[in-house]
Amino acid sequence: MHLAEYHRPVDVMTVRRLLARTPAVALLAGGTTLVPELMAGAADTVVDLCDLPLAFADIHPDGLHLGALLTLASLTPASAAASWANGLLARAAQAAGPINRRNVATVGGLVARADSTSIFWLALLALEAQAIVVAADGPPRQVALRTLADMPADASALSGHLLLEVLLPQRLAQARYGLATVARTPRDEAIVAAVAVVTPTRTTVTVVLGGVTGQPLVLSGLQEFTPDPARLPEALADLLARQEMVSDFRGSADYRRQMAGILARRALSQALV
Ligand SMILES: Cc1cc2nc3c(=O)[nH]c(=O)nc-3n(C[C@H](O)[C@H](O)[C@H](O)COP(=O)(O)OP(=O)(O)OC[C@H]3O[C@@H](n4cnc5c(N)ncnc54)[C@H](O)[C@@H]3O)c2cc1C
Repeated sequence: MHLAEYHRPVDVMTVRRLLARTPAVALLAGGTTLVPELMAGAADTVVDLCDLPLAFADIHPDGLHLGALLTLASLTPASAAASWANGLLARAAQAAGPINRRNVATVGGLVARADSTSIFWLALLALEAQAIVVAADGPPRQVALRTLADMPADASALSGHLLLEVLLPQRLAQARYGLATVARTPRDEAIVAAVAVVTPTRTTVTVVLGGVTGQPLVLSGLQEFTPDPARLPEALADLLARQEMVSDFRGSADYRRQMAGILARRALSQALV
């Protein structure tokens, strides 16, 4: 590793000035994934975000605001923010690996990675989360995380931008959820995962699948399946047959295709209880 410059700004303006100077700046949050990349020489200028005042979790009339530097461990079941959507956020945060990683891994780093097997990422997509980002210049922009999820798997979701916070809209604050996964062991990365979100009036019925294609598959408008979720696997069969499925040492494309329908049904059934 060769680092030419290390910066530790205390305000967002300084980060923006540094982003303007060189696009090859690496924004460092918890470092759980970035540090190994830096060791491999991914960048020579690091901007450490740890002193920015972005570790908040605030509930406002428009929804829940999660600062980019909030750690996953701080979303404990006891925190007010974690009870959002009947506890989906706390449950999803707990699925993001052991406590020593969650103590440092941040919401911002997780969003930037946009990893389709991350349960927390799938939960944010199911809850229609928005990212508030700034670039080197211009006003802050609000971007639906679902548009970031459509990007190619090898692209950096936030390239050239600093994520300030994630906004979870109030509309889904009381949603019920279901979560179903298969993995080689309970703590291992999911092979396939499904997160379902259903509003109390059942006007929003969504299932997000991860680990099937390179990007999460967002299935919205599933109201017709609420009387009988058992119909879901068959109804999804055509759609899943057309997808180019991931196939790796964790599971073949065929296995993932089969499990996707089954897990979607399980997650939706849980959300409807
Ligand atoms: C062994 C291992 C297992 C893992 N298992 C899981 C898992 O089970 N579930 C899961 O969800 N994740 C998992 N992860 C991924 C990782 O923990 C998450 O992606 C994490 O939240 C990254 O956060 P961080 O703060 O450590 O980010 P960093 O490593 O500091 O940064 C990651 C990326 O995000 C960018 N970034 C960080 N903050 C911002 C910001 N505010 N604005 C713009 N860009 C930013 C960085 O520039 C970098 O490109 C795993 C990682 C490892 C190494």
